[in-house]
Amino acid sequence: MKKYLIMGGAGFIGSNLAYRYAQDKENEIYIIDNLSTGKMENLKEIVEKYKNVHFYKEDIRNSNIIKFIKDNKFDNIYNFACPASPKYYLKFPIDTWETSIIGISNILKAIKGTKTKLLQASTSEVYGDAKEIPQREEYWGHVNCNGVRACYDEGKRAAESLIFDYKRLYNVDVRVIRIFNTYGPRMDKNDGRIISNFINQAINNIDITIYGTGKQTRSFCYVDDTINAIIKIMDRKEHVDYPINIGNPIEISVKKVADIIKMLTKSKSDIVFCNAMNDEPQRRKPDITNAINLLGWKPKIELQEGLIKCIKYYNKK
Ligand code: UDP
Repeated sequence: MKKYLIMGGAGFIGSNLAYRYAQDKENEIYIIDNLSTGKMENLKEIVEKYKNVHFYKEDIRNSNIIKFIKDNKFDNIYNFACPASPKYYLKFPIDTWETSIIGISNILKAIKGTKTKLLQASTSEVYGDAKEIPQREEYWGHVNCNGVRACYDEGKRAAESLIFDYKRLYNVDVRVIRIFNTYGPRMDKNDGRIISNFINQAINNIDITIYGTGKQTRSFCYVDDTINAIIKIMDRKEHVDYPINIGNPIEISVKKVADIIKMLTKSKSDIVFCNAMNDEPQRRKPDITNAINLLGWKPKIELQEGLIKCIKYYNKK
């Protein structure tokens, strides 16, 4: 029997992981979420039908979490607790910063001196508006430390710094993954991110809103591929002493994504250009050499195939 705790487990990636682990009845899955951006709907099926899934509404900033973790002696903990969409972290910057930093501090205090493995969901945003393309893990990044995105970027960077201090001082077993843009089922249709926005705009035949020129790029990984990487890195027996990029290295412009989604949905929407976002990273593309070498992992699902799955999902919502 394995005992897992998923913090932020009602959110997009956390809930997809919970579904995957819940299939094995030998696993006991504990999920904590304050439901600020996560949705109970994402967990409905497993919480209602699966006896091995336990949900608690709680905020990771609450110090009760430390006792809860110590008492339960989890094998693995996964930390996804944090607003991750610019729409939400720009609206709730202080909560975002606090969740990132106080949250990880609580977990680290609780697992210090134990054998619990912790997965930290870090982010490509630690590289900011990167000047190095593709981004390797060694790149220190280019972040505006007092700009509007800093609550998220600096929150996740500070979390990494605390984690690596705990590793150096106490040898805690933390695996840090820097997740690049991920998409797929269970991303809330009002989440505000590009794929959920564009598909829902396209299927409703309303304007597809490009922020800025549309020449900025991202690299999109389908969530099942991301989950496979998470499972692989946590199944590894040996510690992982440095952060690992997890994402799809195929880079594509925002305008091209709009064109593909419009074509796949046979939409009558117009593509319109709106104001650019502040401090917007212009090019994002992961170097995944370390993930390939360490985990034998690379993404398998191509963008069009993943988008078709998402279109089916949002059509049913
Ligand atoms: N974007 C856009 N229109 C939208 C939503 C997003 O043009 O309705 C752009 C956004 O400006 C960025 C990219 O799509 O260049 C990815 O944005 P998202 O919010 O998905 O994630 P980010 O990578 O910025 O964290």
